[in-house]
Amino acid sequence: MFEINKLIGNTSYYSAFSNVGIIDVGDGEVILIDTCDHQRMIRGLDRLLGAKNLRVKTIIDTHCHVDHIAGNKYFSDKYGCEILAPKGEAFFVSYPDLEAKFYYAGIDTEKSRNPFFMVEPSVAKVITPENTPEGLEIISLPGHSFDMVGVRTQDDVVFLADAILSKRTWDEHKLPFFYNINAALETLEEIKNMKGKIFVPAHNVPTENIGELAEYNIMRMKERKELVYDICEGLSFDDMFALMIEKLNINLVTSKYPMYAVMLRNFLQSLVDDKAIYAKIDEDTRLIYHRN
Ligand SMILES: [Zn+2]
Repeated sequence: MFEINKLIGNTSYYSAFSNVGIIDVGDGEVILIDTCDHQRMIRGLDRLLGAKNLRVKTIIDTHCHVDHIAGNKYFSDKYGCEILAPKGEAFFVSYPDLEAKFYYAGIDTEKSRNPFFMVEPSVAKVITPENTPEGLEIISLPGHSFDMVGVRTQDDVVFLADAILSKRTWDEHKLPFFYNINAALETLEEIKNMKGKIFVPAHNVPTENIGELAEYNIMRMKERKELVYDICEGLSFDDMFALMIEKLNINLVTSKYPMYAVMLRNFLQSLVDDKAIYAKIDEDTRLIYHRN
């Protein structure tokens, strides 16, 4: 069930596919951390807020992915609330079509268009130390998206957005999305040692002990990185892509191709950054990868 669950003090969360942080700032007003993913859940959250006579004062978007910003337009139209987003995310919140273009890498056929990416634009301002709501700490969590942040509340609850995924997400998606693999690994190392009373990943239940899940994410991400390193030698991108899909036993459909292709490129980039591999055009004009 989608409900508002109290955590500590003035901090609660709405348990949906993408959890929403709710901070009661008094005078019947709340700050939302992200705004959910689906119209039914967005309206459900608004009904629950209405039943408690609460109005939305401010929205903080952790990042621009549509399952975190889908309610921006609804809430800002209804309450006239301000939307704040990190510098590297705010533009994509305002122009969500660009996000689809980024993932689809120019492939924009009818078949590959995914309703997941259809979200109404909303106007986000860049979050700065000056306009950060009092009592909140914005924590940089690079790796999953361009410039994602987490939020620590006055009650010492830390909302971690998509920096850390559930075991189930890893099992189901096999190759979940991360924009910069090495940055994501560094962020996970930081989360492993992070202090806080309760941690709220966006797609998992809140926990007091985040270290074990951080270790698990590091292990799975390194496993994927090793797989790409193992299969890359002497192959072009397309040949490597086919081998990766086979090794991970992924049932590939057209609409999922761009996402997996972006992921393979991101893993290859992380290995190039490590100087573990390099890419070179062969006499055939194909880009071929080699181990150093
Ligand atoms: Zn995300």
